[in-house]
Amino acid sequence: MATFIVLLGPPGVGKGTQAEILADTTKLAHVSSGDLFRENLKNQTDLGKLAKSFMDKGELVPDDVTISMIRERLSRPDCEAGAILDGFPRTPAQADALEKMLAEFQGRVDYVPFINAAEAILVERASGRWTCRAQGHIYHQKFGPPKRTNICDVDGSELYQRDDDKVETVSKRIKVYLEQTMPLVEYYRQKGVLVGIDGSQTVEQVTEKLLSALKK
Ligand code: AMP
Repeated sequence: MATFIVLLGPPGVGKGTQAEILADTTKLAHVSSGDLFRENLKNQTDLGKLAKSFMDKGELVPDDVTISMIRERLSRPDCEAGAILDGFPRTPAQADALEKMLAEFQGRVDYVPFINAAEAILVERASGRWTCRAQGHIYHQKFGPPKRTNICDVDGSELYQRDDDKVETVSKRIKVYLEQTMPLVEYYRQKGVLVGIDGSQTVEQVTEKLLSALKK
């Protein structure tokens, strides 16, 4: 049975950073819906153009297009053993769709870390975030700067600040998260797979908690 880990938590809490580390440790694929949309945007696809109008406002891209993008991604060979899902599902309809997809792909959601932190921390983290243009590696000007200014340590590409990491958009994204994504905490709690993780700690401390909960 393939193993799927869903990372839940508000924007800016560090899901992407932890997903990269978890994917490295578990050797599962890292599937980030935000990265997939940004890749489409970079390649100027129809999906990218559609997504941009929602992303710029801090709103969610409609469920149907998001679900079919993820379905295509999860059907690729590197997800055969499972994946770390970062940013998907974000609505109850997406969670239901995931359930159906995984039944088909002989997989299940085994573990749902819910990483949480106070809003002031989220805004500080998101607004200081720098992202690598080539592959979406994540840095923070204060908490995790790159070795060379504006250059990704991993692949040497340029770092940029996401448009939706501006303070006003981050606040809107947090509001959207509270309204549309928070119900998933209860959804996964009822399934007995939810584990609460304090996201206000350092990257290393959060990773340690995630890995020790994963071992159990
Ligand atoms: P993220 O990189 O996860 O913060 O996502 C950036 C933006 O992409 C979000 O603010 C949404 O506009 C869009 N997005 C990412 N994942 C989803 C999803 N599962 N459902 C709808 N929109 C999404």
